[in-house]
Amino acid sequence: MTLKLYDTYTRKIRDFKSIQKNKITMYNCGPTVYDFVHIGNYRTYLMADFIRRTFEYFNYDVKQIKNITDVGHLTQDDIEAGEDKMLKAARRENKSPYDIARFYENIFLADEKKLNILPAYKFTRATEYINEMIAMIEKLIEKDYAYESNGNVFFAVGKFENYGKLSGNTLENLKTGSRLEAHPDKRDSHDFALWLKASPDHLMQWDSPWSKGYPGWHIECSAMSTANLGNTIDIHTGGEDNIFPHHEDEIAQSEGATGKKFVNYWLHGRHLLVDGKKMSKSKGNFYKLSDIEKKGLEPLSFRYLCLTTHFQSQLNFTWQSLEASQSALNKLFEFVRSAKEKRGKIIKEYEAKFNNALENNLDTPRALAITWEMIKSKNHSIGDKKITLLKFDDFFGFDLNTATIEDEIPAEIERLTEQRNEARKNKDWSMSDKLRAEIESKGFILKDTTENTTVKPK
Ligand SMILES: [Zn+2]
Repeated sequence: MTLKLYDTYTRKIRDFKSIQKNKITMYNCGPTVYDFVHIGNYRTYLMADFIRRTFEYFNYDVKQIKNITDVGHLTQDDIEAGEDKMLKAARRENKSPYDIARFYENIFLADEKKLNILPAYKFTRATEYINEMIAMIEKLIEKDYAYESNGNVFFAVGKFENYGKLSGNTLENLKTGSRLEAHPDKRDSHDFALWLKASPDHLMQWDSPWSKGYPGWHIECSAMSTANLGNTIDIHTGGEDNIFPHHEDEIAQSEGATGKKFVNYWLHGRHLLVDGKKMSKSKGNFYKLSDIEKKGLEPLSFRYLCLTTHFQSQLNFTWQSLEASQSALNKLFEFVRSAKEKRGKIIKEYEAKFNNALENNLDTPRALAITWEMIKSKNHSIGDKKITLLKFDDFFGFDLNTATIEDEIPAEIERLTEQRNEARKNKDWSMSDKLRAEIESKGFILKDTTENTTVKPK
């Protein structure tokens, strides 16, 4: 198996090689839990799930960390508004920031479950890694990558040689025309915060060697990744909006502190658009998973929709495309439900094509197309197609096998059918007829073909 993946850092499709044989370490930038997570974010988490399932499909062990940012982090807009988002939410909803964070975290976890996103090995909360962040900041000061000023600590971007390699935003490029984050204690306007001194009414603050304060956003992910997965990891994921500054800054911090390469493959998902436009609350095209459910569609229809477009291309969400996905998904369930055969073998020809699609930078649209081609093909038995589809579903993650649970064939009927097959093989026709009568008297129909016998409820 040669898996090829497009890596943002090298801007190339590269053969994948894991650090340890058949093992993967993967870090996913997770949600900031001061508000509902929208479907654009879920597209990014589905991408991480598709990556994980691909490796598991090819028999790798995946150790996956997904963080929960429960410390509000500052953005340009917040700085201008003079308040961070978690605190704003706490004030708006009259709760403590911890209450707010747990409330949205629980909704997030329930949503992921509805989307059949496999739970991470660990969901790391930023507030539980403050000590690790402080230790990393101390190391960065010691190595002269960071400086303290008035109780704040900043990363000196100019000291890190590879700054800008991921995003193309080298210091030189940045100097020509980007918006600057003004802060009176910064030596250079492009330096970014590792630790910020809190004002006395700031609701979340911790002791540190520099001030009572709180961490910058980027240091959270560097500290949590290193603490759980070691200095160098195989894969780091996020949305394309994370590339700069978040991931650029993570590289600077982690590599500055450890002196080791931080990430071998950077995988970024592109945006989801709604009716061709960027999602925003003010435009009224900002959707949560519950909005999908309110329309009578299943969350898994969104999972299907995300598979129809490669994660490194923009996905245009429309209600029409979601309805089409729901209908395709229903057909897959219907196929499994109506195929009563229990036995079958994986169709090698289609398995090879399917594996090839996944190996080719996770070509999920092609994997779906191959699946439909296989289902419609006339050259294979229903039983073989069903078994092959269920194997593919280890990757798709629709849990198609649940379709058969409702009308399972009872063990007794299975046994009688087995005995009858044996009798037929031995050309014991009177026994075969006797068993047929018995099975039919219990409400099941047998259908003999040249290859096998199927049984289903009348
Ligand atoms: Zn992150």
